[in-house]
Amino acid sequence: MKWIKAIAMAIIAFSSFAGGQIGNTEITKWQYGKNGAVSLTYDDGSINQFRVAVPIMDQFGFPATFFIITGNIPGSRYRGTFVGRPTKAIIDETASVPTRKDSFFERASAIGFLGYEGTLDYHTRAGELYDEDKNADAAYRVLDDAYAQVRIGAFKKLTQRQSPAPENETISWDEIRSLANRGYEFASHTVTHSRLAVLDDANLAYELEKSRQEIFDHLGFKHTFSVECPYGTENERAVQAALVRYQLARNYMPDEDVDDLDRSNHTDPASSRKDYVRWQRGAVTETAISLMKSWIDKTAAQGNIWLVLVIHGVDSVGWEPLTGAELKDYFSYVDSKKQNLWVATFQDVAKYIREREHGSVASYKDGESIDVVLRSSLTDLSYDLPLTLKTYVPKEWKTVEVRQGDRTQSADAIEANGASYAFYQADVNAQVVTLSRATPTK
Ligand SMILES: [Zn+2]
Repeated sequence: MKWIKAIAMAIIAFSSFAGGQIGNTEITKWQYGKNGAVSLTYDDGSINQFRVAVPIMDQFGFPATFFIITGNIPGSRYRGTFVGRPTKAIIDETASVPTRKDSFFERASAIGFLGYEGTLDYHTRAGELYDEDKNADAAYRVLDDAYAQVRIGAFKKLTQRQSPAPENETISWDEIRSLANRGYEFASHTVTHSRLAVLDDANLAYELEKSRQEIFDHLGFKHTFSVECPYGTENERAVQAALVRYQLARNYMPDEDVDDLDRSNHTDPASSRKDYVRWQRGAVTETAISLMKSWIDKTAAQGNIWLVLVIHGVDSVGWEPLTGAELKDYFSYVDSKKQNLWVATFQDVAKYIREREHGSVASYKDGESIDVVLRSSLTDLSYDLPLTLKTYVPKEWKTVEVRQGDRTQSADAIEANGASYAFYQADVNAQVVTLSRATPTK
């Protein structure tokens, strides 16, 4: 690669023009040279996300990312279960040994899957006390109470294995596959939407790995990129477990060049000094649409913001629903700003940021054309998103022909400050890109 650099240096030394040297190339901060990015994300897979929100997004051509609870979908292989020793031994032990730190995680993992109706709620409550309220003693007491009731037979036995929701209330894998083929991203929201912070290691692994496997089996590798650990947890153990199994978690993005502002963080993204700010905003029922629009304005104006919008229920189905009418109004506003905004799936924006941050570009003049080499040091096969390059071209080039492998694009040169440049797309770690002056048509 050294010789490419040397030639690129030579170009810089010998062909200096106001605004940019001919051949000088950069990876633009955002795809298509936009000023910011927006990802629309939906949690829990409630049915009106597909029946109501998808048709609205289709009108604008917006992609989105759905974090789905895989164990709820008809035809899924992996359901909620307890991984560990026989649960009878655990129940018996609770009669003489109160819940303490060393037994808490196993008991919290098992309580929902003992074969009784209603015990899963105790898992959820203990998880909330432990993870959100940081009140471990209260969480232990919830489990002691639950197991005491189990021992006296207070819960009704499940007559059959927990059956998934009826078909009209949940989306099928066939429908998910056809949406995925149309550009929507599907991502993991675990097998059962459990409180990961209170699961023991085996059950934590089950929730993360089996939902990934389920998605892989139905949709393929592409949709195994992202995860959202339920309840937006920031529990370090849970998030770390997620990050070793997925490229990306919505809960936390550890990248050095990214400021990560989650939904509860009130820091103004304008105060960030980093290359990128991942700005997560939750839209709930009471959120004013005018506030949601102000997030779009800020993202379109500032330059380094990736707005990750989090939506749950739609039209009265799901948690904190928005109405279809609100979504339509809002998406039409987003659409009106699209000249400055890149609306893309959650994984595509993360890939762009990472490929660019780990990328390098070199260019050299080759007779009447300019050759550009785009490399990235990322080795994971997930990172296959083409990036937008901006190259300064001779002023006589009104239209630029861009060839990479067997793909040819044509780009109009843009004149500014006495120089000309072109935007175009290039694959990373692929063939050399060759730019030349398009022959004028007569
Ligand atoms: Zn959720």
